[in-house]
Amino acid sequence: NNHSVFNFCAGPAALPKPVMQQAQAEFLDWRGLGVSVMEVSHRSSEYQELANKAESDFRELLKISDDYAVLFMHGGATHQFSNLPMCLLSDGQEAEYIVNGVWSSKAAVEATRYGQVNRIDALFKQGSSFSLIDSSDWQRSQSPIYTHYTQNETIEGLRFPQAVKSNGAVVADMSSSILSEVLNIDDYDFIYAGAQKNVGPAGMTIVIVKRQLVEQMDFTRIPRVFNYQLQIEQGSMLNTPPTYTWYLAALVFEWVIANGGVEAMEHSAIEKSQLLYECIDMDDFYTNPVEIQYRSRMNIPFILADSKLNETFLSKAKKAGLIGLKGHRSVGGMRASLYNSMPVDGVKALVDFMLHFKQQNG
Ligand code: PMP
Repeated sequence: NNHSVFNFCAGPAALPKPVMQQAQAEFLDWRGLGVSVMEVSHRSSEYQELANKAESDFRELLKISDDYAVLFMHGGATHQFSNLPMCLLSDGQEAEYIVNGVWSSKAAVEATRYGQVNRIDALFKQGSSFSLIDSSDWQRSQSPIYTHYTQNETIEGLRFPQAVKSNGAVVADMSSSILSEVLNIDDYDFIYAGAQKNVGPAGMTIVIVKRQLVEQMDFTRIPRVFNYQLQIEQGSMLNTPPTYTWYLAALVFEWVIANGGVEAMEHSAIEKSQLLYECIDMDDFYTNPVEIQYRSRMNIPFILADSKLNETFLSKAKKAGLIGLKGHRSVGGMRASLYNSMPVDGVKALVDFMLHFKQQNG
């Protein structure tokens, strides 16, 4: 029974039910055209209208000024952390990478092809728990071209509570946290976020880039489709964009606006994550490895004291309609992702299940 399932998958992740229902209702007949939105030209006036509305809704949600361009790019966050150093970094120049987990580490490796990388290992592991090394103890670069960090590490479940400062440009991967907390966009020069968590299905990544930063980039050896300046000039339509993903993203933005905007999403994320952390922290049947001030609101890993119970936990959870809880292979145990689309009732159902499971197996 689909209606009682709560999906805790880290990504591709659950989308808001009303969005899915609207997409279903207009699947075969979009705007009375008699065809699906995925069957129309991206150059049609109807689609152009959708694309423009999506951008203006997104700008409104995050209060993005005209000093920044917003791009809807093909591909994943991986494309962006590969593309950016290719355009911005060259031999003899240095970029700083704050490494606080799997994704920031992968991003750092990509940049080493183009210039010097000052890799700052900021993850501090102590036994089975981890934390961040205080930024005053980082070996910072004097004048990096940019500093890259991952605002929310999806696998470790670790979130930077503040924006990182830099002597260069600030670049942030917000794939697993975009639209879940209020941002001061002026703190950043380049933000990218893969769609498949808080925005829509996979296949598209949103880029927020300060126009000044684009002026610093060198595109002479860059293919046209990866050229940020050209993509800005062409409204992200230098070639055919991922039109259906963009359409679903547009519906998600409308849903976020209708539900109180990013402030309301942040409020709800705090409430939902607290409910789950309280349950985990009750005793040592369940544990979350992350120091409290760095805990993610979106991705919450937890391990069972007795890992032999993992399979039973997962199969019983599935029977109870709670799916997508298997932890990442590098951390083990479980992980519950609580993106914007997760209703508080889903978290309550998970907590009830966990308490019951503990009672039976503790
Ligand atoms: N960064 C973060 C924070 C992620 O969570 C992910 C995907 N889980 C990626 C980058 C890579 O995204 P993609 O698979 O879309 O390239």
